[in-house]
Amino acid sequence: MYPDTELHIGGTWGAGSERQTLPVLNPATGETIGRCAVATQADLDRALEAAARGFAAWRKVSPFERGKVMRRAADLLRERADTIARIMTLEQGKPLAEARVEVLAGADVIDWFAEEGKRAYGRVIPARADGVLQIAVREPVGPVACFTPWNFPINQAVRKVSAALCTGCSVIIKGPEDTPASCAALIRAFLDAGVPGEVIGLVYGDPAAISAYLIPHPVIRKISFTGSTTVGKELAALAGRHMKRATMELGGHAPAIVFADADVEKAVTVLSASKYRNAGQVCVSPTRFLVHDSVFDRFVEGFTAYAKGLTVGDGLEPGTKMGPLIHGRRLDAMEALCADAVAAGANLKAGGKRIGNRGNFFEPTVFTEVPLTARIMNEEPFGPVAAIQRFSRDEEALEEANRLPFGLAAYAYTRSAERATRVAAEVESGMLSINHHGLALPEVPFGGVKDSGYGSEGGTEALEGYLSTKFVTQANF
Ligand code: NAD
Repeated sequence: MYPDTELHIGGTWGAGSERQTLPVLNPATGETIGRCAVATQADLDRALEAAARGFAAWRKVSPFERGKVMRRAADLLRERADTIARIMTLEQGKPLAEARVEVLAGADVIDWFAEEGKRAYGRVIPARADGVLQIAVREPVGPVACFTPWNFPINQAVRKVSAALCTGCSVIIKGPEDTPASCAALIRAFLDAGVPGEVIGLVYGDPAAISAYLIPHPVIRKISFTGSTTVGKELAALAGRHMKRATMELGGHAPAIVFADADVEKAVTVLSASKYRNAGQVCVSPTRFLVHDSVFDRFVEGFTAYAKGLTVGDGLEPGTKMGPLIHGRRLDAMEALCADAVAAGANLKAGGKRIGNRGNFFEPTVFTEVPLTARIMNEEPFGPVAAIQRFSRDEEALEEANRLPFGLAAYAYTRSAERATRVAAEVESGMLSINHHGLALPEVPFGGVKDSGYGSEGGTEALEGYLSTKFVTQANF
């Protein structure tokens, strides 16, 4: 019931040239459930040749026709949602209902980009002389290399592939080795819908070796990476050395400010659910909760009760609300962060330990009053661990929100228009959600500032990264 994953190169699915494979593990059981093909340099060369030919053909297809094919892919994804969701839960661990939502949301992303590709308008610029026509034309940037992670195997890939396809680019995607099959199911939907085989390549293998080969390669004109800030900086430096365009969607450490005048019950309900979604392995997960003294106890009580009441288990079991972490390395990371916070003097209100010894389960964890020197207050936790801090003056909360080099998402709860406006003006983040959780729709910008990266993966802004501008001026004979 869990498929092995092959590479897709030049219109053909198959093994890598050396027939190497990697095991794929179910994070809920630790069992090997399948294999993932590994690409060699020879395979990458074939993928690059195909991407060059694919680009030459696809850029000539009208945005209207590209949109039609893409919408068919969205429909196929919807038809296949139940099967793909099961595959995703088996390899990634998230509860089945969340996996299904991710597949369906992926279809919405494709539909939106299919339409938006038709609106990649240029400009006519009034000329200084009679008989001169000046136009700015938007052209696809060229073959794109995308590197996508395991936390949202479809969502992280579909944004990049859709933006590339709707603008007329071909794409080679280096999918996530931990969760290869659901990403491959996405690519299959595009191909079955009629995207030519040379337009999309799908490879897996050694991420560092693949990025080191693809990014400098002359065929590749742009890269898009989602992952940690550390790796993102390396890839951005490599892209810079070779003058390649780049979109970088990197780590965060999102502040969630709960002011004295907040609807505390709503803040607890929305923020606790967002914190533990996908076991906290979400780049926009709220991670530093900054709560006013006057509502601190109520917030901590409600939040801790939610954490303690969460049903943690195999994502395929009905009733599971939080699944396992993706791999043993994240378990080790959570154990180390928790041990460090306890040693630093933080109050442990819930969780703090691994659950059992089968699968990568970790307790939903809540710390309060964590010293700023603790690692958890400085490193992206990327797991089910929350740190709740007190503040008494608004300035303190804003200062803490901006203390770290990250700037991806931020959250605030307040009934005051003045406070909301101030937070919007002063918080250094690419996204801010006030009094609700409203991020990541296809039509809105998605991206960070500072060490969280640059470029956008949503909204009209997302197309910018895949287009270059050509200026043409033409005089009458
Ligand atoms: P990791 O750094 O080993 O890998 C993270 C992702 O980057 C994986 O998809 C991996 O394949 C890719 N990667 C790593 N080195 C690469 C390279 N040289 N070239 C191309 N791709 C490369 O870490 P991990 O233990 O798998 O994940 C944990 C960390 O990754 C977290 O701390 C988190 O910051 C980050 N992460 C972020 C996101 C996100 O949505 N922004 C998603 C997944 C992981």
